[in-house]
Amino acid sequence: MSLRTQSSLDVSEEALNEISSQATQLVFEYLTTISERPVRAENYAGKTIESIDAELSIEGVPLDKLIRDCRTLMDLSRHNGHPRFFGYVASPSTPIGAYADLIASALNANITCWRSGPAGTEIERMIVRWLGSLIGYDRDAKGLLTSGGSMANMIALLIASRRKADASRRGLWNAGPPMTLYASDEVHMSVAKAADILGFGRDHVRVIACDNRLRMRLDSLRESIEADLREGLRPFCVIASAGTVNTGIVDPLAEIANVAREFDLWFHVDGAYGAPGVLDQRKKHLFAGLERADSVSLDPHKWLYVPVDAGCLLFRDAAAAMAAFNTEDADYIKTHGYSDEEAFAFWDYGLELSRRFRALKVWLTLQYYGTRRIAEAISEDISLAAYLGEVVSKADDFELLAPVELSICCFRYVPAGMKSDTELDRLNERIMGLVQKGGRAYVSNATVNGRFALRACITNFRTTKSDIDKTVAAIREAGGK
Ligand SMILES: *Cc1c(COP(=O)(O)O)cnc(C)c1O
Repeated sequence: MSLRTQSSLDVSEEALNEISSQATQLVFEYLTTISERPVRAENYAGKTIESIDAELSIEGVPLDKLIRDCRTLMDLSRHNGHPRFFGYVASPSTPIGAYADLIASALNANITCWRSGPAGTEIERMIVRWLGSLIGYDRDAKGLLTSGGSMANMIALLIASRRKADASRRGLWNAGPPMTLYASDEVHMSVAKAADILGFGRDHVRVIACDNRLRMRLDSLRESIEADLREGLRPFCVIASAGTVNTGIVDPLAEIANVAREFDLWFHVDGAYGAPGVLDQRKKHLFAGLERADSVSLDPHKWLYVPVDAGCLLFRDAAAAMAAFNTEDADYIKTHGYSDEEAFAFWDYGLELSRRFRALKVWLTLQYYGTRRIAEAISEDISLAAYLGEVVSKADDFELLAPVELSICCFRYVPAGMKSDTELDRLNERIMGLVQKGGRAYVSNATVNGRFALRACITNFRTTKSDIDKTVAAIREAGGK
């Protein structure tokens, strides 16, 4: 038996140089050609695996070949960073954000707590404060970066529910009368999923109807809470959307905050998509009341143009969060002999133990551009969505289906002579498929007041006015077929 006498998987400086330059070259190539590519490659399931070397290698594959395979899979991808990609909520990463992830992975710090990743922990806590102050929430916000908005919403619900749970029933915190939460029928599906995972049951998510502007109705909210109280149930949380995923509408936050206070409910705002919209001075008024939230979800990997994954949960009351996650301490998480700051641990705030250094890409993105340029990009996205809204409102063969409040526009193609909603639903669904396959532009869909809508979400600093015009043309052309 011979014991290792030198590092085994490290490579020579020459080989390291080769990896660095080839990988960097590939990224450079990608970022400089993204706008000229089809939005979505002609593709079918299984094509990627057919196109690369898909045998598990025993002796290793030469770097050249691996880089070529990476180039192939980039070619076969859908390009969320393309200037005419408007599906879902998918923004491009800035170049600096992509390199930030490389730096984070090279350092490979594990940001479980200060002891484990002192620099990363301090940066993350600073980023949390910055994000809070950027969106007008709380300059001294606490919180953590998460994999995304779904995780942030789930953590918020956990913290909210444990605050209302009977502390004497530790371990059985969910015992007693059912706990109920309230959100509009436009809320993101991650809320029902979290309620399910946390054991409240999807049927204890009270779905509150929206008004004709797709905002949560306050009278229905109040009636629903009062009915549950009469039944002896335990209302614990109301979730408002600051930018719904379907249409980008912001709920009446200040009024919902009042109801939450009146009934002693946790007030959570899901701003995963829309919270950065507050940086546009023209839209600031929509977010009045956000500062009163007990917690806010926001995804830097959406409208702050940071690469996935980077979600964030902000909250004001660190004690409530810590109470929710306080466990019978395992030996490996005890922080003996450290000051409070040095004993700081993200596991007191969330579900994950091992966590990558997500704050680095948020930090570098914000600092490289400065908040003025980031805010300008967001405002431009909003203006482009408004422009699309105008174009489809004015055109005879299009119909706007929802107000354009932030950067989402929902509309449909309405050819002369076709009036039936069912026919229009079917037609627009087919148009969406054709446009997506065509590769010139990409829109997704939403159901708005029961109707099939083409949906364009513009969170894309590459998009210009001419991209909007080209997208309308592509849709019209597909409609003509
Ligand atoms: C995207 C989104 C989510 C989920 O966020 P992920 O980062 O995809 O987990 C939740 N709520 C809203 C409003 C969203 O737009």
